[in-house]
Amino acid sequence: MEAYGLHIHHAEAGSSQHGMETLEPFIQTWLYFGLLSEFLCVNLSGFKEGTPSVNEKEFRAIVDLIYEATLIQDGNRKYVNLSSDSLNSFLQSTRQRLPKETEIMRKFYQHLNHCLSCTSSMLAALPAGFNHAVKCSIAALAELLMNTVNTAFRLIGLKPDFGRFWGKGFLDNEAKNLMKSHGWCISDITRLEAKYKSIQSLYAARMMDKSLPRRNHDNCTKFSCNFFQINKGAFRLQHQEDTCPCNPLEVDCEALASILSKDDVFPVLNFTGDLYNLKADIVESTPEIPFVAISHVWADGLGNPNSNSLFRCKLHHLTKLVAAIGTQDILHKQNIPYIWLDTLCCPAQDGDGKQQAIEKIRLVYQQAKHVLVLDAGLMSYSASDQEEFEQLVRIFTSGWMRRLWTLQEGALSKSLYFQFADRAVPIAELMNTIFKKCNQMRYKAIFMDLSNEYHGLTSFFHPSPDLADTNEIATLDRSLQFRNVSVPADEPLCIGTLMDLNLNEILNVKEKNGRMQKVWQLIAAKKGGFPMQVIFFQEPRIDVPGWRWAPKSLLAWDGGSHELMNTRFLKWSEKNLGKVTDQGLRVQYPGYRIKVAPETGDRKPQLLPGFPRRPEFNLCVQDINTGEWYHIYDKSYASLNQTWTEEERKSHNELGLFPLHDIAETSDSGLLLNSLNNKIPRVHEALFGTILAPQSPDSPEEGLTVRRGRVVVVSLVRPQVTYVYNTLRRLALDVRTSDLAEKHRAIYERLARERDGSPDLLEAAIANSEELGTSVKQIEKEMQRMVEMVAATDDQFVTAVEESGEVHLNSVWLWIYEFVAHDYVGEKLAEEQVWFVD
Ligand SMILES: [Zn+2]
Ligand SMILES: [Zn+2]
Repeated sequence: MEAYGLHIHHAEAGSSQHGMETLEPFIQTWLYFGLLSEFLCVNLSGFKEGTPSVNEKEFRAIVDLIYEATLIQDGNRKYVNLSSDSLNSFLQSTRQRLPKETEIMRKFYQHLNHCLSCTSSMLAALPAGFNHAVKCSIAALAELLMNTVNTAFRLIGLKPDFGRFWGKGFLDNEAKNLMKSHGWCISDITRLEAKYKSIQSLYAARMMDKSLPRRNHDNCTKFSCNFFQINKGAFRLQHQEDTCPCNPLEVDCEALASILSKDDVFPVLNFTGDLYNLKADIVESTPEIPFVAISHVWADGLGNPNSNSLFRCKLHHLTKLVAAIGTQDILHKQNIPYIWLDTLCCPAQDGDGKQQAIEKIRLVYQQAKHVLVLDAGLMSYSASDQEEFEQLVRIFTSGWMRRLWTLQEGALSKSLYFQFADRAVPIAELMNTIFKKCNQMRYKAIFMDLSNEYHGLTSFFHPSPDLADTNEIATLDRSLQFRNVSVPADEPLCIGTLMDLNLNEILNVKEKNGRMQKVWQLIAAKKGGFPMQVIFFQEPRIDVPGWRWAPKSLLAWDGGSHELMNTRFLKWSEKNLGKVTDQGLRVQYPGYRIKVAPETGDRKPQLLPGFPRRPEFNLCVQDINTGEWYHIYDKSYASLNQTWTEEERKSHNELGLFPLHDIAETSDSGLLLNSLNNKIPRVHEALFGTILAPQSPDSPEEGLTVRRGRVVVVSLVRPQVTYVYNTLRRLALDVRTSDLAEKHRAIYERLARERDGSPDLLEAAIANSEELGTSVKQIEKEMQRMVEMVAATDDQFVTAVEESGEVHLNSVWLWIYEFVAHDYVGEKLAEEQVWFVD
């Protein structure tokens, strides 16, 4: 298979999109051929004083060379056809022409890096209707060239720039629909887009057929595959072939339990006999007994949630597969190696035996000579029909990668085999082969993605030395994403194994939330604290006092955006650790304490009843010392708001939710600014929550206790808007103390008295009262008059409104009411403010 993006229709062939006819060929010529010629060093002049520039003749020769090698005329259509070989020879010729001085090389490759950076920005800015194939071909070429630059960077001792992901948006709807019709689960596609950055890997996946075996993905969502979830009640044992008449083989649970009750040993199976009289003897493990442990997807037919039994035909087939691995280290006299299979070796019924078996799983997979992975999706395709990288892409996009238990099984193993239709393949060997092929450009692009997946699997127990300082929790989080488990309470157990925690302590807690709490506790104890930035996670938390900062699960994540997963990774890597206390997680962050503005302390109700309340978009807060204004946006709302249709937005607004205002209305709230990884100082990620009274009035408070509310973004308001806000706020105070407002409140109080405390009746009365309606109109008129007055005398206000670009002078009076009803001020706290987040 050739690298993607080197063979495309030349855009001159025309595009159906209106208005793109001239843009596409221009962009293609400029970016695709432009990039190529930059890499062929037509712009070598200027890198060194006195270096002769490429002269006219040489320049023409280079351009001719490019066109000759890439453009193919077919009737009146043109194709771009650039083979990997030609591309390689282009780059070869560049290297020959390039002066050997390091300084010039450094300048040259930095220039190329700059060209790639511009290409990346250009591609991101292309209009929506732009020809997808042309866009992707440019991105694919840039990706291949980027790897060349990165290699060159390394050779001349510069840090490579891996920052750009060319694959973003490569899978358009057409490609995704095609993949679905080839058996891909929609959630597998989401995972692919989230985890694979390279066009070459996404292309390999796009071309991959997954229609075997037939699996029903109709009930799957974008983020979770439901095919593999085991429903204990509806479970039925399967034969190898539907017509098989064999009887199930059941192992003796008592015998299992008696071995499991001893320290550091577990049962393994010694199979004898042929299909219909297959026997399994239970043997006590010793470090000397070689055995193969099976790692499988239960839904594929080797699981049984109800008893320790399987049909003999299934097991007979299994023994053959294991024997076929055929390495010397597992052979013994019967030629069927000893096997460990959870379905037969872990007691199916709850009890001490099962608990002990779970505690020993780590030992089992560590001691196994080999771990053999059985996934029907892999076993339907022959390894010999696929290139090594295809085998790897198939493995990493398999159902096995989507289950939680299989992660630790693979992670613990010393030697991991994947069963294909024709043979079992050791993954370490596959990775090695691809690594050796990395001198070819396209493999280099794919290798990054594949090695990320591989390290996500192996780094827990077999870390590679160059990744030694990667944060363990971050790796755990990344490896858990998109995995699922049938029994939620199993998640803490798997985390416990992967993080090397005391499993017994976790198992002794029976309920899921309690177990997660235990896991966080053990991790904090082991690490000496917990990464502070966990408080900025948007995912659901444990709802127990003192623990409301802690994620409920790592499997569930806010599916709003892929970027979120990368920011999570950064957050876990935080070096500053918080302390787990009874009051919540003790952290230190700069921030604000926010109150209702003191001018409103006149006890007059702030809201003027009967005024329509606008849906919550953000919150405005003024810094009481500097006079600067800040906007607070709810992060989840902001990302949802971007994707909502008009209809969805309307139905959200009808719910009448005001989460930010509700927190601010308590008149004592805290804003914790995430000061780390903050590239734009005007914008901060923050946590916004209510401040709680000190738990005990006697003990001196070390810090503020804040009830975790919403994750928000805080941004400094621009100077023009500040002037507008200051003016409107002054007007709002005038409105609030005006006779009209006084009269308005009197009407409301009379209505309230007449309805005698019934909120429903009062609400209806407010909505229907003509008198109140007239009063609202009068106050609105007054607000308009006020703005007109200001506009007539204050030129700065008029200019500021125009320059704000956010509101028209005719409608700016509507904002006054916002300040009548909601007027908040914030006081900046110390840089190292101590908070207890709960
Ligand atoms: Zn699915
Ligand atoms: Zn059978």
